[in-house]
Amino acid sequence: MRRLRSASLLAGLLLAALPILGAGIDTAQYLEDVKTLSSAKFKGRLSGTRELDEAAQWLAARFQEIGLRPPPGGFLQRFHVTTAAQAGRSTRLSYTLGGKTTVLKLSEEYTPLGLSSNGAASGPLVFAGYGITAPEYGYDDYAGLDVRGKVVVILRHEPQEYDDRSVFGGRVYTNHAQIESKAVNALRHGAAALILVDDAPSHRGSAGLEKLGNGIGPDAPGIPAVEIKPAIFEKWLEAAGQSFEKIIEGIDEDLRPRSFAFPAALTVDLTVDLHRETRPVYNVLAWLPGTTEEYVIACAHYDHVGLGQQYSMDPSRRGEIHPGADDNASGTAGVLALARWFAAQPPPRRGILFIAFGGEEFGLLGSNYYLRNPVLPLSNAVAVINLDMIGRMRDNKLYVGGAESSPGFKQLIAEMNRNGDGPFEIEDDDTGDYGSSDHFALATAEIPYLFFFTGLHPDYHTPRDTWDRINAAGAARVLQFVSRILEHLVQ
Ligand SMILES: [Zn+2]
Ligand SMILES: [Zn+2]
Repeated sequence: MRRLRSASLLAGLLLAALPILGAGIDTAQYLEDVKTLSSAKFKGRLSGTRELDEAAQWLAARFQEIGLRPPPGGFLQRFHVTTAAQAGRSTRLSYTLGGKTTVLKLSEEYTPLGLSSNGAASGPLVFAGYGITAPEYGYDDYAGLDVRGKVVVILRHEPQEYDDRSVFGGRVYTNHAQIESKAVNALRHGAAALILVDDAPSHRGSAGLEKLGNGIGPDAPGIPAVEIKPAIFEKWLEAAGQSFEKIIEGIDEDLRPRSFAFPAALTVDLTVDLHRETRPVYNVLAWLPGTTEEYVIACAHYDHVGLGQQYSMDPSRRGEIHPGADDNASGTAGVLALARWFAAQPPPRRGILFIAFGGEEFGLLGSNYYLRNPVLPLSNAVAVINLDMIGRMRDNKLYVGGAESSPGFKQLIAEMNRNGDGPFEIEDDDTGDYGSSDHFALATAEIPYLFFFTGLHPDYHTPRDTWDRINAAGAARVLQFVSRILEHLVQ
């Protein structure tokens, strides 16, 4: 499945012989923290709001109180998200083919991407496959291609996305599939503008055009960027004597790029004029040094969906506070509980970097930002523990993802569960069926991860996700289990 850096993370450990330790979790304190984080004063913790900034300050103060150090750069790591974007009047896109100019309809045939910079570009067009340069996989859509000053057309996603044996992530996308990575790569190769097309043959039935204004996303990397309908792209391919299906099948088959310059008879003329609003969001980080350079990341996202916005699962109650007690005050309070326990122990061999991520609900923005701007070398990170929704334990059932991400994890989980205070019924959660979380982003850096989750429920992303419905005793048992695992990972 995924290539691993730390194949021998746990090799040689005789797990059964190790003592069963594990944190003493203060259940009352835990519930108090969930209550505070999900209280009305933080207004549903929407990324980009003053209330989320206040929640960040509150978390930083807790970490400090616990006695943890700020990592290099401080407790707060700031990044920006686009909270709203509108296309201004001079936004336009037309193409000329064989002397005939066609002006495309905004929102119907094309739309600027939320991360687009403002600017104009015109001239010949180059097709650059998936727009990916991945030396680690021996794959480069830009190999032998001159795109300097030209407009590049690239596909969404990445090669071999339905292939579990893919050198790319297979069913889990790697970081190369992120539009932002593609924009940065196009810029690096000197492209003047970027046109994105849904890889439609791989996704029959999808709309093919994202809506702007759902344009909450990362900050602009510095290149004008639009998305067009696959039907337009197919017209261009026809003029070049190419087939959409054959391009995709070809790349999937041998991972050799199918990039080319379109005939000179085809040119585009594009202007993006976006009115964007951006707001800062913070990741909150705290550092517990070990006696070596290596460390484990223990994380949870602390943002939620505010008043529901476009994320509410109960549209009739949009506008009311969505408190997000389970999603994910439960995991954030869990990170605090782990921090309290480990800070009170003798220094571990490996350090622990505690992170509360912002921007998760908008698309893992905080963890993706962190990946590109780590405060400690990612090469020293041996594992990630991610907690997302651990507050609704029912029927003693615990979902654990990532057991396959490192040899030894399966055994570790089984051992720690067997010797615990009554075993959980553990279910694998590697399908992503329950939606993604920050470990998806961190897994793209090929750090082995474990993800803990007590399951979906009808109150998910609704105003009913309140603190009084949290199973605090169940969460405390999950945290004891997690702390036993973490204890072995840092020793
Ligand atoms: Zn969540
Ligand atoms: Zn959520």
